[in-house]
Amino acid sequence: MKSAPAPAHTAYLLLGSNLGERVVTLHRALVALAECAGKIKTVSAVYETAAWGNEGQPAFLNQAVQLGTDLNPQELLRACQQVENDFGRERLEPWGPRTLDVDILFYDDLVLDSEQLTIPHPRLQERMFALVPLADIATTYVHPRLQRSVADLLADCPDKLPVEQWMGDL
Ligand code: ADP
Ligand code: MG
Repeated sequence: MKSAPAPAHTAYLLLGSNLGERVVTLHRALVALAECAGKIKTVSAVYETAAWGNEGQPAFLNQAVQLGTDLNPQELLRACQQVENDFGRERLEPWGPRTLDVDILFYDDLVLDSEQLTIPHPRLQERMFALVPLADIATTYVHPRLQRSVADLLADCPDKLPVEQWMGDL
């Protein structure tokens, strides 16, 4: 029997949730992404962080995902937004609470700046809540714009919000 060819591209995504049954949402989002975006290759631990940019809202759970995909970057963004919408996300305010946020951190070694999509994610290096989970699964990966590894970016990140491994029950 012939096995399916390996996906052509590798993307790293960051999932975030701070409303509802957060960890259940993360888990279901992985299932949904596996159905519409590609093959989940690795996932990080789940981390909890106080809300960033807009204090006074519930804490976030975040998880990084390595995805093998045949979608191009625009198709991948649409798939991520479709999964967000399936979880009832309403875009009420920037950086506001959300049931599910799915961001594209890296897509192969691509550097892209378009109106809808910036890759690598433009704020990755400023956010411990993204770097800590990403370092679980991509510590030696070199940021193609900054030419620095994820481990280096983590060591130099100015963000001081604590990011703690989440040990809660399902
Ligand atoms: P944030 O994730 O910064 O809190 P949103 O999830 O509301 O904000 O995203 C706002 C817009 O950011 C999206 O409509 C999308 O077009 C754009 N965007 C630009 N680059 C990316 C990326 N790398 N991943 C996800 N969205 C992106
Ligand atoms: Mg987003």
